[in-house]
Amino acid sequence: MEKACFYCTSRQQLRALTMWHNPELVYYYCREYYAMVNRVNEEKKAEFIEYYSNEERRKRLSEETLKLYYQLTEKD
Ligand SMILES: [Zn+2]
Repeated sequence: MEKACFYCTSRQQLRALTMWHNPELVYYYCREYYAMVNRVNEEKKAEFIEYYSNEERRKRLSEETLKLYYQLTEKD
């Protein structure tokens, strides 16, 4: 399949963006939308880390999501 912007389907000036919650999930965005989507992506990641920095809240996470939390916090 030919690459296209996930947001507007443009095929111009695409950049790959890895989704914060799944490193295997990569979408392409054109220059117009990349910055916006990247910002939202980073915000959601930061919110997730912030929310689950509380140990009591982390107890409610599934094993898989808990693994993600530790992966994300290890990198920073
Ligand atoms: Zn686009």
